[in-house]
Amino acid sequence: MGEELEGALRRAIEREKKARQYAEGLVEERTEALRLAYEKMRIGEEQEFFDVLSRMPCAVLLAQNSGEVALANPAAVELLGFALESELIGRNWLSMIVDNEIDPLSQGVQEDAAVLMRKANGDFSAVHIIIGSSAFLGSPARIIILHDVSEQRRLHQQLRYQATHDGLTGLPNRHRLLEKLGQYIASARVHGAGLSVFFIDLDKFKFINDSMGHAAGDVVLCEVAKRLQNLPLAGGVAARLGGDEFVVAVPTSNALERRQMAQYLLEAMLLPIRLERIDQIMGGSIGAAQYPEHGSDAEILLKRADIAMYHAKESGGSTVCYFTEHMQEELDARNQLEIRLRHAINHDELVLFYQPQVDLSTGMLVSVEALVRWQSPDYGLLFPGAFIALAEEVGLIRDIGAWVMVAACKQILRWHQEGLGWVRVAVNVSPLDLVNDEIVKRVADTLASHGIPPECLELEITESLSISDPEMALDIISRIKALGVALAIDDFGVGYSNLGYLKRFPAERLKIDQSFVRGLSQNAHDKAIVATIIQLARSLSMQALAEGVETEEEARILLELGAHLIQGYWISKAVPSEELVVMLRKMCVLDTRQLQAPTHPPKVLVIDDHPMMLDVIQNILSTLPLEVQYMGSAEVALEYLADNPFSAIICDYQLPGENGISFLAKVRILQPSAVRILITASADLAVLREAINIARVEHFLQKPLDPTQLIALMSTLRA
Ligand code: C2E
Ligand code: CA
Ligand code: CA
Repeated sequence: MGEELEGALRRAIEREKKARQYAEGLVEERTEALRLAYEKMRIGEEQEFFDVLSRMPCAVLLAQNSGEVALANPAAVELLGFALESELIGRNWLSMIVDNEIDPLSQGVQEDAAVLMRKANGDFSAVHIIIGSSAFLGSPARIIILHDVSEQRRLHQQLRYQATHDGLTGLPNRHRLLEKLGQYIASARVHGAGLSVFFIDLDKFKFINDSMGHAAGDVVLCEVAKRLQNLPLAGGVAARLGGDEFVVAVPTSNALERRQMAQYLLEAMLLPIRLERIDQIMGGSIGAAQYPEHGSDAEILLKRADIAMYHAKESGGSTVCYFTEHMQEELDARNQLEIRLRHAINHDELVLFYQPQVDLSTGMLVSVEALVRWQSPDYGLLFPGAFIALAEEVGLIRDIGAWVMVAACKQILRWHQEGLGWVRVAVNVSPLDLVNDEIVKRVADTLASHGIPPECLELEITESLSISDPEMALDIISRIKALGVALAIDDFGVGYSNLGYLKRFPAERLKIDQSFVRGLSQNAHDKAIVATIIQLARSLSMQALAEGVETEEEARILLELGAHLIQGYWISKAVPSEELVVMLRKMCVLDTRQLQAPTHPPKVLVIDDHPMMLDVIQNILSTLPLEVQYMGSAEVALEYLADNPFSAIICDYQLPGENGISFLAKVRILQPSAVRILITASADLAVLREAINIARVEHFLQKPLDPTQLIALMSTLRA
C-alpha cells in the first residue's frame, strides 16, 4: 500500500505542477496581449491628436520643457519660416525669441504676451503666444500656441498715428501735443527744468482761404508746418491744433533761448509763400507761456499761450506777446461780462435810447435811431462800445438784435397810440445777422405781431458786410426790402466801398460816417468827400444823412452841400423815450432859416477901354442881381484884383498896353475860381486857341454882343 499511495501522490503533484505551469503561461500570454492592446490604443490616440493638430488653423508646437520641439503643425512650420516639419523638430523654439522683455515661461498661460521672433528665413514677426502644460510620450511637455500679430501691430500703429497726427500736414495733433506736453512737464518737474509753449495763429490765413480758395489755404498750412519742423526745436515739438493754429513747445526755461525761438517763429511766418504766382506774406500772432511760471498742466499752459496770442493779434499781428497774470484777469472779467450779458438779455436790463434825425429842409424831427444801452445792476449804464463786440464774438448778437427789433416796434406802436403819429425808428443790424436768412422771418414776424406799417421800421446796415458774401447779403437785404421796411447804409465811406454793390443795394438812405463830418469845417478834403457822397446818394436816388453833427457850422455846410438829414449831438444825443417825446411834440426842432447863409449877389468885374462898349454891357447887366464894377485898364484892374474877390471877370481882347489873354492869364493866378470871359471882335481861331490854352478862358463873347448870351452866362454865377 505504501508504494501505491506514494505513486498516486507523485501523480497528483505532477498534475498540479502542469496545471500551475499552464496558468502561468496563460497569465503571461494574457498580459502580453493586454500590453499589446494598450500600446495600440496609445499610438492611436497620439495619431488622432496629431491629426487634430495639423488641421488646426493656428500654429501649435509641442515641446519639451527645455524648449526642444517635438511636434509642430503645418501652420507653426509656416509661421516660423521653415519648409518642412523635420527642419523644426529638435530645435529649441525659445532660442528664436529676440525680444526678451517677456519671459515666455514665467507663467503657465500668458495673456497678450507678444514677443519678437526671428524666423528661419531671417525675417522678424511679432508673435503672440499662449503656453500650456502637456505630456509627450509619457514625459511632461509644453504645448505652445503661436499667433502672428505683425499685421495687427502695423494697423494699430497706423491707427495710432492717424489718431495722433494731423492728416494734412503730418504734424502731431492736439491729442499728441497734450501727451507730449505732459511728458515734458513730468520730466521738467523731475529735473527742475522748464518748458516754453508758443501758440501761433496765422494773420492772413482767413483772407487767403476766402479769396483764393481752400487749396491755396492747404498749401499755406503745409508750408508753415514744414517751416516749423525745420526749426531747431531742441527736442521740442511742433504741432497743429486745427485751422490755422499751430503750437511749438521747447523744453527750456532760459529766457534768451525763449526769445530766440520767438524770433525764429516770427521770421518763419514772415517768409513769403508763393500762391498763384504772387508772393504772400502770412504773418503770425504768437503767444507764449511757460512752465512752471504760468501753470503746471498741459491744458492750462496751452490756454494761457492762447490768451497771449489773442493779445498779439489785437495789437496788430506779426508780434509775440508773453502771458501775464493781467491778461488772465482781463479774460476772467470778460467771461464775467459775458455771463452777465446773457442774463441781461432775458431779464430786461437792455434799454433803447433814441437819437433824433432831422430833415434839413423843414427842421422837423422825422425819425430816430434806436441805440441800445445796458442798464446793468453790476456795472451801471453801459454803452454799446462795452458789449456789442463781445456779443458778436460769443454769439449773443442775434438775441440782442431780436430784442432790439421787438422793443423798437413796441415803441413805434406806443408813440402812435400817444398821438405822435408813425415815427420811423432805425435799428442797427449786425453784419453777423446777414449770414443767413433767419432775419427775414424775424422782421416779418415782428412787424406782423405788432401791426405797425413796415415803412416805420428802418434797418441800418454797415457797408463793411459786403466783404464776406455780398451776393448772399444782397439777397437777404432784398427780401427784407420786399417786406416794405426801409433800409439805410450805415457808416458810409469808412468801409469797403464797392460801387457796383452800392448800386444794387435797395436803400433809401446813405449815412455819411461821422469821421468825415468831424473835419467838415476845417478840412477842404473832408468837405470834398462829403460833397461827393451827397452827390452819389442823389444820383442813386437815396437821401444823404450826415451822422455825428456837433456844431452849427457843420450843419450849415451840410445844408449848403445838399444833405437831406442830420443826426448828432448838436441836435440831441440819444435819450430815453420820455425825453424824446418832448422833442416829438414840437413842430420843428431846428430853425432852418438860421442855417441859411445871408445871400450876396455875385460880383463881376468888366474891363474895356471903349466907353461905348462899357455902356452896352452896363445896360444889359444892370437888370441882373449882380454887383458889377467897370474899369478901363488892365493895370488898374490887376491892382484891385489882388484884394477883392470876384465871381466873374469879363474883359476885351484889345486892351491898351496888354492884350486880354495875357491879362486873364494873370487873373487866373490871382483868382483861380473866378469865371474868365473874353470879348473878341472876330472868331479868329488862333486867338481862341491861345485864350483857352494860356489863360484857360472858359467863355467867349463876340462883338456885336448878344444880350441873351450874356444874361444866360451871368445867371450861372454863384456868389
Ligand atoms: P453807430 O450806428 O454809428 O451809431 C452812432 C453812434 O455815434 C452812437 O454811439 C451815437 O451815440 C454816437 N453819436 C451820435 N451823435 C454823435 C455826435 O454828434 N458825436 C459823436 N462823437 N458821437 C455821436 P453809441 O450809441 O455808443 O453806439 C455805438 C455803435 O454801437 C453804433 O454806431 C452801432 O454800430 C452800435 N450799436 C448801437 N446800438 C446797436 C444795436 O442795437 N445793435 C447793434 N448791432 N449795434 C448797435
Ligand atoms: Ca447806426
Ligand atoms: Ca453810423
